[in-house]
Amino acid sequence: MITNKDLSFLKAIVGEQFVSTGESVLNLHSHDESYHAPVLPDVVLWPHNTDEVSRIARYAFQRKIPITGWGVGTSLEGNPIPVRHGIVIDFQQMQRVISVRPEDFQVDVEAGVIYKDLNKMLSRHGLFFPPDPGASATIGGMIGNNASGIRTVKYGATKDHILRLAVVLPGGEVIRIGNRARKTSSGYDLIHLFAGSEGTLGLVTEATLKLAGIPANFMALRVTFTKIKNATDTVFKVMSSGFSPAALEFLDSNVIGVLNRDRNLSMEEQPTLLMEFNGFSEEGLKAEMAYIEEICSENGSTFIDKGIGRTERDRLWEMRHLTFESIKRQHPGLLPLIMDVVVPLSGYSNMVSFIKKEVRELQAYVFGHAGDGNIHVIVMDEPTDNRRWSRVDEAHRRIVGQALALEGSCTGEHGVGIGKRSFLPDEHGSSLELMKQIKKLIDPEELFNPGKLFI
Ligand SMILES: Cc1cc2nc3c(=O)[nH]c(=O)nc-3n(C[C@H](O)[C@H](O)[C@H](O)COP(=O)(O)OP(=O)(O)OC[C@H]3O[C@@H](n4cnc5c(N)ncnc54)[C@H](O)[C@@H]3O)c2cc1C
Repeated sequence: MITNKDLSFLKAIVGEQFVSTGESVLNLHSHDESYHAPVLPDVVLWPHNTDEVSRIARYAFQRKIPITGWGVGTSLEGNPIPVRHGIVIDFQQMQRVISVRPEDFQVDVEAGVIYKDLNKMLSRHGLFFPPDPGASATIGGMIGNNASGIRTVKYGATKDHILRLAVVLPGGEVIRIGNRARKTSSGYDLIHLFAGSEGTLGLVTEATLKLAGIPANFMALRVTFTKIKNATDTVFKVMSSGFSPAALEFLDSNVIGVLNRDRNLSMEEQPTLLMEFNGFSEEGLKAEMAYIEEICSENGSTFIDKGIGRTERDRLWEMRHLTFESIKRQHPGLLPLIMDVVVPLSGYSNMVSFIKKEVRELQAYVFGHAGDGNIHVIVMDEPTDNRRWSRVDEAHRRIVGQALALEGSCTGEHGVGIGKRSFLPDEHGSSLELMKQIKKLIDPEELFNPGKLFI
């Protein structure tokens, strides 16, 4: 419980106007984009720098007050919900781009920077930060969840783009880990320990990110198939073609149908692959396009919409970025349970066909980052209706079971949060105990984002 004395102390650290116990602010920081029940924090703070975050953590440690980090709350598994109340640290006041080093393909940023704003700024240098989760996420939140997205198939996830981190530990100590070199074999890989730890081990305040050059030219295709298996088998064929897709997505006919209805489009309501390739000359991309078309047609494609250049790429891909919003809009009053299984590519077709059977009686949409074996299933339903929700839960359980049987994972990119905690014993076996010991070592009082990852 936060006292008036606590509030006075916290105000002295960040300034009076950067502390709030107002109802609407607490509400805003009580939920993410998932169906998980909201929980109000006691207070929201907006620190300005690493030192202030450290002083807050030191005080909270003495008073045994829980702290949960907050980017913009776009998580899908309840990751930033402050389930034990206490302090929420919102990084909105820490949005400085500290320095750009184009010659090193690096940028130093504060944790509250929105990656889309960062990419707008970096485009002046011909550079970009590739992980692309779609929503307007912060760098701190992306590191917290090890977010990835449509470009991961070519560039990797957030963790693959971190060179250095400043992290505030429970108790307030600040550690600076990593270096500016593009590779290192020096010691334990602490960067990858913090990336994806969902703020349960430390709060990231600054990061040095690895950048990529913006490709010179783009080519994209939207390809439809009559049968799902033809589409999903084509994923492997494209991946093994020798050309490296910059994005390769699968969408089932339900997704195409909901987009048609919601956006007044008229796409073929069939299993669909959406692809992007990067290159230099138009001639080169044309030749590549012809080859990819041939692969698709050998695998039973029925329709291809295609184009070369940035405008064409944007035209063909726009609908993919609208998917989540369209699904939600078409089901007013219902909430989404979002599955995020990922399997080795050889198991992709098996996984998708298993999912389609499991969800045939539900209002379900199946799509995902096919090029890296990631599949999302959004089921729209009513969490407060126990009978209906238990069917959704059962399907979720069986689908994760199948992903694990195929030697995959319960979550490819959304993290564990609250929603995937029960799957960790099956996925990690005895190594889960080591994870718990690491948590205990770094956060013995369980103050940082308590109630997440482990049951
Ligand atoms: C429409 C939509 C599409 C999405 N698509 C994708 C997708 O394709 N791929 C994908 O990976 N995700 C996707 N997401 C999920 C989400 O956008 C990402 O996980 C994103 O990285 C969350 O960022 P955030 O700033 O909102 O963080 P938050 O949700 O606020 O926080 C995320 C986690 O990180 C912790 N945290 C926040 N800041 C810090 C910090 N500074 N230090 C340490 N921990 C911190 C929080 O406590 C929490 O556990 C999508 C979400 C939506 C709504």
